[in-house]
Amino acid sequence: MDDLAPDSGLPGVHIAKPARDFPATGSYACCCGTARQTTGDDNVRDLVAEWIDHRNTCPHR
Ligand SMILES: [Zn+2]
Repeated sequence: MDDLAPDSGLPGVHIAKPARDFPATGSYACCCGTARQTTGDDNVRDLVAEWIDHRNTCPHR
């Protein structure tokens, strides 16, 4: 599956959890150009927290 990359036309956070035994993948893309991807449930949780934090500190707000 290669469709998990952030879509620059759709800023936001995207989480995918294909199966219970499969690690979650997450990504976010911001209209300011910041984009990150990660794999693993704990990492995804951190990424979501980072995204929320970024929205509060983004220079493009
Ligand atoms: Zn931003």
